[in-house]
Amino acid sequence: MTELLIRGGLVFGPDGPLEADVLVTDGVITRVDARGSTTTGETVIDARGMYVMPGAIDVHVHSRDPGFPEKEDFGTLTAAAALGGVTTVLDMPNTVPAVDAAGVLESKAALARPKARVDFGLWGLIRFSSSEDQLEELAAAGAVGFKAYLGYGFSTSRKQVLQSVDADDPDLEAPPDYGTLARLAPAIARLGLPLVIHAEDPAILSAFRRPLETYADLLESRPAEAEAVAISAAAAIARESGVSLHVAHLSSALGLRAAQDAMRSGARLTLETCPAYLWLSDQDFPRLGTSMKVFPPIRTAADRDALVKAAANGVIRIVATDHAPHTDEEKSRPFGEAPSGSPGVQTLYLSCLELAKRLGDVSLAPRWVSEGPAALAGLGQDKGAVATGFDGDLVIVDPLRKTQVRPALMRSRQRHSDLDGQEFGFVIRDVFLRGRPIVRDGKLTGRASGRMVRPARLKS
Ligand SMILES: [Zn+2]
Repeated sequence: MTELLIRGGLVFGPDGPLEADVLVTDGVITRVDARGSTTTGETVIDARGMYVMPGAIDVHVHSRDPGFPEKEDFGTLTAAAALGGVTTVLDMPNTVPAVDAAGVLESKAALARPKARVDFGLWGLIRFSSSEDQLEELAAAGAVGFKAYLGYGFSTSRKQVLQSVDADDPDLEAPPDYGTLARLAPAIARLGLPLVIHAEDPAILSAFRRPLETYADLLESRPAEAEAVAISAAAAIARESGVSLHVAHLSSALGLRAAQDAMRSGARLTLETCPAYLWLSDQDFPRLGTSMKVFPPIRTAADRDALVKAAANGVIRIVATDHAPHTDEEKSRPFGEAPSGSPGVQTLYLSCLELAKRLGDVSLAPRWVSEGPAALAGLGQDKGAVATGFDGDLVIVDPLRKTQVRPALMRSRQRHSDLDGQEFGFVIRDVFLRGRPIVRDGKLTGRASGRMVRPARLKS
């Protein structure tokens, strides 16, 4: 039996913050009670003056592994995650080969396991040609759900397996469209897993396509209408089939309004936004340059403020990163050619803590990064809370020290991010994965001990 006792911290449990001791026995939280009443465990951590929070679950990361080791791999991804207090990552399926079948998922899991410093789950890919059988097999192999990239087709020969429809690739299979979603949604609903969409309507993107020279070009080429239309259309399908629809990286006030309309009309919808959309606006482009080239784009201050408000009042329940590293060389290409994406997993918790503090309620942060994500991924029985019976995935946060985001601190292979230069009034001090230390005093410790997580099927 191994025991970990975290003594005297301010514990952010389901009933709000409380000064308490947390005992973890063989990886599972066995007691959360008032200070001083717990027996001594094998390892005792003094957390007086600290916050004790549930480990974050980043539901949207791109490990690039296998496929693009120059950008990232499971080792560097999960080192960055651990240092940021993220104890579970859910990896998107656009690695190489793309995760469109059970066998691919199984080999990806086998490759990730020995490198993973945190727990991980894997999303499956929906292709234009995907069959119900393929999705059933992916679910049986442990997929946490399915992702459809509207407008991105599967290339049958090229190394970069997902290509925008406008890419010049003779081997491009048609991208999944609303027909694909309507065809597969009933099966996904039966499986009790979420359907995730990259919500930008391809027809609207194609109508507004233009050369990208300035940031204004980017905003005009990917208007908020594209997001709103994709959400409304997918939500109509979700409502009919009963599937749980999850909107990745919500970026606009217009998209938010479409989502709220859909929720009111009975669709089962969850919303995710990313720190970049909550922190930045087009005004930051002169300072950040291509670091902030992401799809969908970071829009206006009014969009940002609408998203912050929706996160504060619980309409948006999940903040994830869309952690998508590239190389410095790729990101320093001219604006039109630089690939979209930025790393973020290491700053997820810190940025959410700072935003929550400014909104007057620090406990919003663990709700956005842990409780909401656990529910989405079907992990809510084991993860997402500091409470008896949950995994001992715990983060000790120092609320009196500051972290300034700078490349030298970052452990992702891509060290420049769109939050460069931001200062957050917290430090992630210690991180425990199922009761074992993976970060002590801001430094990685121990061997890779991450496990693959599997969802408890959502009840439909
Ligand atoms: Zn993504």
